[in-house]
Amino acid sequence: MTSLTTPQTILTSAEEFDFENFTFGSTPTDHLFFANYDNGSWCNPRVEEFSNLSLSPFSLCFHYGQTVFEGMKAYRISEGTINIFRPDRHLARMNRSLARMCMPEIPKDLFLTGLEAIVKADHSWLPDGKDKLALYIRPFVIATEPRLGVKVSDTFLFCIACTPITQYYNKPLRVKVETEFSRSSEGGVGYAKCGGNYGGAFYPTYLANQQGFDQIIWTDASTHKFLEEAGTMNIMVIADGKLLTPPLSSSILDGVTRNSLIQLCRDLGILVEERRISVAELANTLAHNEHVEVFGAGTAAIVSPIASIHIDGVDYHPYTGVNAVMYHLKNELEKIRRGRKPDTHGWNYLVNI
Ligand SMILES: *Cc1c(COP(=O)(O)O)cnc(C)c1O
Repeated sequence: MTSLTTPQTILTSAEEFDFENFTFGSTPTDHLFFANYDNGSWCNPRVEEFSNLSLSPFSLCFHYGQTVFEGMKAYRISEGTINIFRPDRHLARMNRSLARMCMPEIPKDLFLTGLEAIVKADHSWLPDGKDKLALYIRPFVIATEPRLGVKVSDTFLFCIACTPITQYYNKPLRVKVETEFSRSSEGGVGYAKCGGNYGGAFYPTYLANQQGFDQIIWTDASTHKFLEEAGTMNIMVIADGKLLTPPLSSSILDGVTRNSLIQLCRDLGILVEERRISVAELANTLAHNEHVEVFGAGTAAIVSPIASIHIDGVDYHPYTGVNAVMYHLKNELEKIRRGRKPDTHGWNYLVNI
């Protein structure tokens, strides 16, 4: 009989891993943290060696999309210390996502216990002295009850997995402002980091890729006249010395990077406007100003410069030169996270290993 199980992931030890040359997201670290939700509470927290999961094909997560995830980072800031960046804010968002998907919230103790346990178990994946390296941490919760009927699961699995991440050169992106498809609508689940949001974005993104664009900038679902965000990043504009970004809503994800960059701007005396930005305003601003920056903000790349934006048949070219403010913001944020600048907002969660 042919085996239908997926192959075991090939494990590499941190000692053998080539930190200079790797593709993000393909190599797991050696351990996983787990907890189960059963009989109305979280139980059995544990660290295990990495291995595939065994689940019934009836598990509800495979059918009705009750899945939620987070994406965060940890940094080695000295031989004996690892910094996990803003776990409280990631947990608050995860719990908002879980509540929206009718899934049980993760208590703070369990979340922090899990994070500490996993970075301690896998700290060799953050070698000392490697400045561009970080650990990408992926907490997620899935519905595990084996039932084909459409219902809210009674059991869940909480898992934390990790993979190394480095600061690649971010090739400035070519994007298109999407005015046909929608990522999420008012009252929907756009503010939740739940699996379906990404599955639903693949097809429009595939079409954009076919047309030569790297990514889509989504607009509001009802009028397609206002900027929302990119697929896994919030959108930010620097014009006239100000930072502009759309306000949070039920259709936009509350990015931790977005929040941190807004705070940094305030610290640096850069004016911030959180307000609706129409596509027409953006086109007009780009057409009439030399120095307008447009970029995506998210945990993985921090700042992703946008070099070309396609709006209504016209390509606009924001500034991506070395003097861009967005690079300065990124560097400032990196200095704080790597312990090179004072952490005045209490963003760093230090773990002694
Ligand atoms: C994760 C994500 C972001 C960025 O959030 P960060 O907390 O900054 O990583 C923005 N938009 C979407 C849709 C996302 O999934």
